[in-house]
Amino acid sequence: MTNKMVLFDRLALIGVGLIGSSIARAAREQGVVKEIVATARSEATRKRVAELGIADNVVATSAEAVKNADLVIVCIPVGACGAVAAEIGPHLKLGAVVSDVGSVKGSVVRDMAPHLPAGVEFVPAHPVAGTEYSGPDAGFAELFVNRWCILTPPEGTSPEAVERLAAFWRSFGAKVETMTADHHDLVLAVTSHLPHLIAYTIVGTAFELREVTQNEVLKFSAGGFRDFTRIASSDPTMWRDIFLANKDAVLEMLGRFSEDVSELTRAIRRGDGDALFNIFTERRAIRRSIVALGQDSATPDFGRPHPGLPADTLPRPYADKD
Ligand code: NAP
Repeated sequence: MTNKMVLFDRLALIGVGLIGSSIARAAREQGVVKEIVATARSEATRKRVAELGIADNVVATSAEAVKNADLVIVCIPVGACGAVAAEIGPHLKLGAVVSDVGSVKGSVVRDMAPHLPAGVEFVPAHPVAGTEYSGPDAGFAELFVNRWCILTPPEGTSPEAVERLAAFWRSFGAKVETMTADHHDLVLAVTSHLPHLIAYTIVGTAFELREVTQNEVLKFSAGGFRDFTRIASSDPTMWRDIFLANKDAVLEMLGRFSEDVSELTRAIRRGDGDALFNIFTERRAIRRSIVALGQDSATPDFGRPHPGLPADTLPRPYADKD
């Protein structure tokens, strides 16, 4: 359904990868901006964005892109946000809203805010939505539907600017919540950053074993391992920057995780079946509540198609089991 209310006249997108190109597509589909100006670091990406026709104008520099823009969204790896803010600062329009989409918020606020002039509203954002693919071809307008977008406005940001950006994200079908940058970083360290660290680790451990197992690790990579490989195929630049930028919160969560692994290790070593059963029962309930909150599909095998297999022979979703 098209939302016809224009929220910002001119949108400038700096970086047009998975997230930037999804925003461009969604903003155009919903009619919430009149005009989209885009730029990317490389000539190749700028050329591709022009070919895709997802922006009205593709320009060579960030400084040029933000001229007269009412909303500027920086959609690049978090480690590069400070340099871009320094470049665009002097060219921003008075009253413009500046935002980003970075997966870490404390470092983005620290790196960007000092370069933004008075009279510009800074509303950092993190759409908690994505895939393991990158680049302007990877984006799609529906990426944000029913996903959270977390806003972390620094103290003193005008509530009107926050509400306008919230309306922009809601028009894409996203649910919006506001919190402090520090709180965001702590929550995401456990829900997103730690799982990626575990995936990168386990895929590496299994791959190292390929000689010992005569490649059986890869051959039989069904179920859990296959899902880890999907997560571990995410963009290395993006994830390098996330771990560098959210170091303290990730180390804190890693410490807690290690303690929990020790608990399981002890139960296995002692043959403590009751402890294992109780831990697994408790953890399975967490999966159910994620499905109940609409954050994932209850369909078997995450809804992957199983050609030739009648649907009713598949295992039934947890929710139906008991
Ligand atoms: P992407 O598809 O890899 O696109 C990254 C964009 O940033 C490209 O346009 C790239 O330009 C540009 N870029 C890369 N390094 C740069 C630098 N040093 N200076 C200026 N521009 C640079 O990445 P993405 O998935 O859209 O992620 C963008 C941001 O969204 C990141 O901060 C990430 O943390 C956040 N995020 C990602 C996800 C996800 O699942 N992917 C989810 C939520 C938030 P070129 O193409 O010209 O190199």
